Amino acid sequence: MPETVRQRLARWLTRGEHDFDDLRVAFELSARDLEDALRHVERSARGKGMRLRVKGPECRDCGFGFPGRERRHLHPPSHCPKCKGERITSARFRIA
Ligand SMILES: [Zn+2]
Repeated sequence: MPETVRQRLARWLTRGEHDFDDLRVAFELSARDLEDALRHVERSARGKGMRLRVKGPECRDCGFGFPGRERRHLHPPSHCPKCKGERITSARFRIA
């Protein structure tokens, strides 16, 4: 049986850390579909006693860290609410 996208995603994240944009390109998913897949992977990781660890996005211009954003959104923010900058790093994920 072929490995599903969610299974492959879980395997990648168990072996290392990957950021949102790299995953989106590698898995050829829309931001919405990747976010969805990550939430599923998060739930199944929890069922195995592990967690989806998220390093949130950060503004490259002022260092703003978007505290608590991962509870609502996993895709990158379009701009910084503090300095209005648009150079934002994407969140990084791993399962541990
Ligand atoms: Zn900023």
